Amino acid sequence: MIGTGQRGRNMAIRTKLVAGNWKMNGLRQDGAMLAHTLKEYAAAAAPGTPGCEVLVCPPATLLSEVGGVLVGSGIALGGQDCHAAPKGAYTGDISAEMLADLGCSYVILGHSERRQHHGETDTAIRDKIAAAWRAGLAAILCVGETQEQRQAGKAVEIVSSQLDGSIPHAASAATLVIAYEPVWAIGTGLTATTEDISEMHAEIRRRAPAGIRILYGGSVNPRNCPAILTLSEVDGALVGGASLNANDFWTIVSSYAAK
Ligand code: PEP
Repeated sequence: MIGTGQRGRNMAIRTKLVAGNWKMNGLRQDGAMLAHTLKEYAAAAAPGTPGCEVLVCPPATLLSEVGGVLVGSGIALGGQDCHAAPKGAYTGDISAEMLADLGCSYVILGHSERRQHHGETDTAIRDKIAAAWRAGLAAILCVGETQEQRQAGKAVEIVSSQLDGSIPHAASAATLVIAYEPVWAIGTGLTATTEDISEMHAEIRRRAPAGIRILYGGSVNPRNCPAILTLSEVDGALVGGASLNANDFWTIVSSYAAK
């Protein structure tokens, strides 16, 4: 079910989305400066551009500050994770309701760094997606294979099983975005070939709810984004490292300017 904070989107068109994952980077001054610069770029953009939805996902400590700066910019705010429960004795965790309360409209879930460092399972991720919807947030579900899994010819099998294990039955294009992020491409400067991206995105589209947006993530930068973002099955990007540089991030966002 779509929550009250959910924005309406024309899913037939599959509005492109470029999301920045700031990870655990930035103190308040850094976050505010980056957000101010992005707001200036957005204000200076020609009418009808950038031609995609723009989202930033700062660390939880910066959500309030960055959200305040971005008011009126058209740039959306998102969290990087949430707990499945709405509240309670979960020291150090943050609920989806808390993210919504801070102005978030999205939350990234199942990022490979959460799977690797926090042992997140597909079942736990499915519960978090349901929690995001309960709070009116759209979930960005990250899936992707490791280098070993790809070399063993298991990439499609692994991603398919992540999708099957973590997408709740009620999923729709309005409440879920999928980010295909090969683990070996994250933060390494390596990117999947355009053939591999197209093949995996087509497979994900076959298994996912109709009209869903599928982002690519993994070392996307201003140099490689034109080739990746113009692929017909790619509906945008989840950007890590390059999203910490306003100029680089806006160059990626501006790939969609002419679309
Ligand atoms: C990410 O963390 O989601 C990501 C894609 O990182 P990077 O762009 O740095 O590879």
